[in-house]
Amino acid sequence: MRIAVISDIHANLHALESVLSDIDHESVEEIWCLGDVVGYGPRPNECCDLIRERATISLCGNHDLASLGLLDVAEFSGDAATAARWTSGVLGEDQRAWLRSLAPLGRRDGAELFHASPRDPVWEYVLSEDVALLSLEATTEPLVLVGHTHVALALALDGDRIDGGLAPGGITVELDERRFLINPGSVGQPRDGDARAAWVLVDTGDGTAGFRRVAYPIDATQKEMRDAALPETLAGRLAHGL
Ligand code: ZN
Repeated sequence: MRIAVISDIHANLHALESVLSDIDHESVEEIWCLGDVVGYGPRPNECCDLIRERATISLCGNHDLASLGLLDVAEFSGDAATAARWTSGVLGEDQRAWLRSLAPLGRRDGAELFHASPRDPVWEYVLSEDVALLSLEATTEPLVLVGHTHVALALALDGDRIDGGLAPGGITVELDERRFLINPGSVGQPRDGDARAAWVLVDTGDGTAGFRRVAYPIDATQKEMRDAALPETLAGRLAHGL
C-alpha cells in the first residue's frame, strides 16, 4: 500500500494544497495525518475541512487541543498562545466538533501513530536518540510515526541502539527488517532549515519511505497572517524554515 504521511499543517492552507497536489501525482491509497491541523496559521477552518475530507486517519495535536480549550495555553510560548486564542475565536462549530472527535494516537496497518511520542502522545518531543530508543521500546509495530517537532527524521532500531537521523527532502529510506521511527516533518511550519512543505510517501509494497519537499507560495500565507494580525515572528519564520 502507498500511504502519504503528513503532519503539523498549522492552518497553512497554501502549504496543504501544494502537498495534496503533490500527493495526487503519486497514486496514494491513503493519507494519514499526525495532528496539529490548526494553530499558528491563518486558515484553520479550511485546513480542517480538507484533512477531514482527504485523510483516512487524523490525530489531534497539542495546538488542536489548545484551540479547543482542552489544554492550558499557559503551557505555550507567547506567540503560540496568542495564535491559539485567535484560532479558538475563528474556529467554526463543525470544525471544532471534528477536532474534538480526534485522538492524539492511533494504529493502522502495521503502524503506530502518535502526534508527539508513544510515552506522551501530546507533548514529548522525539529529538534525541535516547527518546527515540524509548519510543521504539514502548511500541511493537514495525513502523512508528510521530510529528510535533516539525523536523523530518528517519531512525531505525539497530539492536539496542538507534541508527539514522535527519531526513532531508529527496532521500528514500529502505525499510528493511528493522523497526523504524519516522517523522515526516511539517506541512505548514517546517523547522529543519528547509522552508518547503514536507511529507513522506511510505510504500509498504517495496518497503521504502520517500521524504518529499514541496515549494508553496509562502508569501501568500504570510500576507494572510499579517491581515489576521497574527504575531509577525510566526509569519517571518516561514520564509526560513525555522
Ligand atoms: Zn506542530
